Amino acid sequence: PIKLAARMGAVQPSPTIAITRLANEMRRAGRDVIGLSQGEPDFDTPEHIRQAAARAIEAGQTRYTDVDGTPELKAAIVAKFARENGLSYDVAQISVGTGGKQVLYNALFATLDEGDEVIIPAPYWVSYPDMVRLAGGVPVTVACPEGDDFLLTADALRAAITPRTRWLILNSPSNPTGAGYTAAALRALADVLLEAPQVMVMTDDMYEHIRYDGFDFATIAAVEPRLAERTLTCNGVSKAYAMTGWRIGYAGGPAPLIKAMATLQSQSTTNPSSVSQAAAVAALTGPLDFLAERNAVFQTRRDLCLAAFNAIDGLSCRKPDGAFYLFPSCAGMIGRKRPDGQVIATDADFATWLLEDGGVAVVPGSAFGLAPYFRISFATSTERLEEACRRIAASCAKLA
Ligand code: PLP
Repeated sequence: PIKLAARMGAVQPSPTIAITRLANEMRRAGRDVIGLSQGEPDFDTPEHIRQAAARAIEAGQTRYTDVDGTPELKAAIVAKFARENGLSYDVAQISVGTGGKQVLYNALFATLDEGDEVIIPAPYWVSYPDMVRLAGGVPVTVACPEGDDFLLTADALRAAITPRTRWLILNSPSNPTGAGYTAAALRALADVLLEAPQVMVMTDDMYEHIRYDGFDFATIAAVEPRLAERTLTCNGVSKAYAMTGWRIGYAGGPAPLIKAMATLQSQSTTNPSSVSQAAAVAALTGPLDFLAERNAVFQTRRDLCLAAFNAIDGLSCRKPDGAFYLFPSCAGMIGRKRPDGQVIATDADFATWLLEDGGVAVVPGSAFGLAPYFRISFATSTERLEEACRRIAASCAKLA
C-alpha cells in the first residue's frame, strides 16, 4: 500500500467536487442530471479578453514571467484597486497567482505556525478550513445564523479572538449564501479588530462585481485605512469576467507578506500562465459594460429560483446580495420520509434525495459548515433552472 503523509489526514477532497463526480456517473449511466453544484458562470469570457490572449500568443508572450505577476498586470491591478476600491497600493504590494485559490493558500502558508488560529465565519467557502489545516493552523469556525443574515457580528468576532488568532477571513459577497457586508457592517468589525493587533484580515472579494438590488460593495481596508497594513485584499478575474479556466487571482497587501508569498510560489508553481496574465490585463483595463447585462440575467434567475423555493412547503430562502448562489433552509424537510420509508435526517440526505429522485445536483449546507441548508448555483441557463425548480418541487412533494 502507498503510505501517505500524515497531513493528508487533515484534508478532504472538496465536497462540491464529490457531488459533481456522482452527478457525472449518473449522466454516464444515461440519466438527465441538472448540475447546480458548481460555482462557475455559464457565460463565455468576453471577446476582447480572448483576443488579447490570442495576440499575446502571437507576440511570443509564452515564456516565464516574473514569479508573482508581470509588471503590466501588477500595474493594472494597482489601478483597479485605486479606481474601484479607493485603495492605494504600489506594485511591491501586489501578488498574482494561479487563481484566487493559490493566493489565499500562499498567504496562509507564509504566515501560519503550528496551532495558530484562523477565524472563519460559517457558512464558509469549503476550501478555507482545509487550507488552514494543511498549513498547520487551526480553523476556528464561528456560526453566523440566518437571523444575522449569515454575517459575522462584532460580538461574535470579539468572542472568537484569542492571543493565537492570526487571521480573520471575510468573504463578501459570500459563497455559499450571497450575503454581503455593507460598509457599516465592516465598520463594526473594524472597531473590534483595531483592539486586536495580532489579527490580520484576509478578504475574499472574488464576487465583488456580481451583485443585486444596488448592493454597495465595500472592502475593509478601505473602510478602515488603519487596518490596511495588516489586511490582504484578495480578488481575481475568475467570476466577474467568466475566466475560471484561465487561473488568475491576485491580492494587495503589506510588502513583507507579498514578498514571502512570492518566495513560496517560486518554489511551487512559478509564474501563473503568461497568456492568462495578458488576458487579465485586458480584463482589468477593458470595458465593464458586459457586467450590467450579465448581472441582470443573474438577477432574473435568482428571482425565479427564490420564488420557486419559497413556494415549496418546507423550504425557505433569504435573498442574496451578490454572487450566484442560493442557500435555502431545508429545516422543514428534516424528519420527513421518502416513499421507500427512509427518513430525511440531514441536509446530506435531502441532497441525496434530490439527486436520486429528481436528478438535480445540489450541495448540502453541512459542507459549508451550517445545516440544515443546501446550496444551488444559479449560474446556469434559465431553461435548465426552470426545469430544476420543477423537479425539486416534485421531489419535495414526495416527502411526507
Ligand atoms: N473564493 C471563493 C469564495 C470562491 O467561490 C472561489 C471559487 O469558487 C475562489 C475563491 C477561487 O477562485 P479561483 O477560481 O480564482 O481560484
